[in-house]
Amino acid sequence: MFLSVGVRFEANVEALNMVETAGNYSKHRRVPYLVEEDGRLKTVYVPALSGESLAHAYQEHLVREALGLGLPVCDDCRRDEFYKSMNKVHLKKKVNPIPDDPRDIEIAIVRSCVVEDVGGFLYAEKPPVRRSSAFQVSYALPVKSVALFATSEPQLHARHAQMDSSSKKGNASEQMIYYVETGTALYGFTFNLDLDAIGVSAITSEPILDEDEIKTRREAALRALFRMLSSAQFGAKLSRFFPVGGITEVAVAVTEHPFVVTSPIYDDYIARTERRLKVLEGLGENYLFAVATGEKVPEEALKEAMDYLREQGAF
Ligand SMILES: [Zn+2]
Repeated sequence: MFLSVGVRFEANVEALNMVETAGNYSKHRRVPYLVEEDGRLKTVYVPALSGESLAHAYQEHLVREALGLGLPVCDDCRRDEFYKSMNKVHLKKKVNPIPDDPRDIEIAIVRSCVVEDVGGFLYAEKPPVRRSSAFQVSYALPVKSVALFATSEPQLHARHAQMDSSSKKGNASEQMIYYVETGTALYGFTFNLDLDAIGVSAITSEPILDEDEIKTRREAALRALFRMLSSAQFGAKLSRFFPVGGITEVAVAVTEHPFVVTSPIYDDYIARTERRLKVLEGLGENYLFAVATGEKVPEEALKEAMDYLREQGAF
């Protein structure tokens, strides 16, 4: 089964994805964006969060949920250092001696780590072994219709340090000023999860684990998404720039085969997704579409999707 979520969230004064520091200025990630104004297309630079940043946060939640359900997570991933068995040094911690057959390497990694099972890995040695991530996440980008109102503005901050007598300014209190570029926007992003890929070999398409363990791993993957959205624990600089705002809309589709909700950067994404699902239904595919806008809260839509998946026997 396949789950796809469109998320809209309002974030005022956030520093969720910083890309570089030039002197005392730390810059927010920005991307070129095509918007329509007065019937003409133009490019604007808008604040954004990378998919990599969201994926990292998701995997941190996955570590916690997996451990909570008594599932295996390797030592690197437990520390939220997602090396993903990238070379012999990291792989040897899981299997030693390292097998020659790529299939055996994949089995050893998947068995010993839920994060690498769900999030994929690339063992870049001989033989190279690659496993695609069972989850996908887009960049978070401003909603098109209001993208022109998205801003990134530097905010001035000061850090104080008491200088001792050995420093050149004597006992004077020293202050350092620095700027943090903060973004403000209504963002949208898409998250997909292919439940059928969890615990299954990417090389042979055969299950690597028994059915019970696969189901528990699916549950961990869903719980991690729930927790990430519910807690808004994603992105950087949360300690002093926790975004003011929150999730405004969530649309979750659960289908038998891969299907992705229309991107929430478009205002009509819910209606379009519904129409597209109706066509699938006409082709004989069952689905669930849960939407949280206005009255319903995001957690209710997410729980509806999880209940449906449980009823369908996915976990
Ligand atoms: Zn791992």
